[in-house]
Amino acid sequence: MSSSRVLVLNSGSSSVKYQLLDMRDSSRLAVGLVERIGEETSRLKHTPLASGGESREWTGAIADHEAALKAVSAELTKDGLGLDSPELAAIGHRVVHGGKHFTEPTVIDDAVLAEIERLIPVAPLHNPANLTGIRTASALRPDLPQVAVFDTAFHTTMPESAARYAIDVETADAHRIRRYGFHGTSHAYVSRATAELLGKAPEDVNVIVLHLGNGASASAVRGGKCVDTSMGLTPLEGLVMGTRSGDMDPAVIFHLARVGGMSIAEIDTLLNKKSGLIGLCGDNDMREIRRRIDEGDERAQLAFDIYIHRLKKYIGAYYAVLGRVDAIAFTAGVGENAAPVREAAVAGLEQLGLAVDAELNAVRGDEARLISPAGARVAVAVVPTDEELEIATQTYALVGKGNG
Ligand code: ADP
Repeated sequence: MSSSRVLVLNSGSSSVKYQLLDMRDSSRLAVGLVERIGEETSRLKHTPLASGGESREWTGAIADHEAALKAVSAELTKDGLGLDSPELAAIGHRVVHGGKHFTEPTVIDDAVLAEIERLIPVAPLHNPANLTGIRTASALRPDLPQVAVFDTAFHTTMPESAARYAIDVETADAHRIRRYGFHGTSHAYVSRATAELLGKAPEDVNVIVLHLGNGASASAVRGGKCVDTSMGLTPLEGLVMGTRSGDMDPAVIFHLARVGGMSIAEIDTLLNKKSGLIGLCGDNDMREIRRRIDEGDERAQLAFDIYIHRLKKYIGAYYAVLGRVDAIAFTAGVGENAAPVREAAVAGLEQLGLAVDAELNAVRGDEARLISPAGARVAVAVVPTDEELEIATQTYALVGKGNG
């Protein structure tokens, strides 16, 4: 019996997203998610793609991650794809923070678990949930390799000049304060797919990747290796996001505490959950913001302008970091779908060889595509990201060989 299937798990604090892939052809056999774990109204949505079946939804109390994974396994079993199947080669886990040392996907053992746990102070929201997912999956299939694929890994090639903050070195090292970067799985996948779109090897291409989802980050990738990225110690730094502020003078925090009388917890919530687009105009969905702009809403317009201004600054900064840019790739929910964002982000940058063709930019689709005018010095591309496929590919590359 060949083992060619990989289950990809993305465990959040109250949710689990999953995909089961067949790595012989990278096809998706099933996808789904469990939300609101721990509440009375937990929801499971499962889509058995292999059998072309209809999505099944279920609402009820799912107490914890163990119950969630068991419910997922029960759904998969109905389609003949259960977690007990010998065809399952491995489980690949998205782990948000791998610190400085996890530079590659890693087969999980006790030492790896301990290190992910040690990193909780720098990823208090994410790593505990990821650990719970790993422990639960290992308990269900102790015989199976469990692989951690880290959001930070792709960024570990950043030089110290980009990775360090200009603060006292001893203090920084004592608290492991440095720029780690996130969304690395997406930046890795998209920079490689962009090279492929250009018909070149990743080693020969310099790319600026703009991952614009609800969370958003930019990266500068030289010859396949990340040399700078916009997120830092946490995913708060950098671009304007759906609900996060991105870059600001750190003294805003002192001011809010001293003058505004806010607690650290309140400021944390303000900057992570009530800032960015939602703080600026009350909406964090770019579709809604564009709709309001079309109706002449000035607050929505200002939020859009601030978003674009920051994006443009990062394009310029990473152009300077790379020296030579072969392509700019837009990805994730906003980057893949919002033509006005792509148009505005490169508007006025003709001197840098950057432009979009209005007709090409208006085309919608799931495929990687060029939107720059023919013969442009720098290619501008829309490259749909696929973090689950990347996690499955990396997981299978590590454990799949020799199976079958
Ligand atoms: P995340 O994974 O960070 O939650 P996604 O990459 O799925 O986010 O992006 C979600 C965001 O994409 C939405 O909040 C919305 O702003 C944007 N988005 C999705 N579809 C469209 C669209 N058709 N036009 C403009 N923006 C869109």
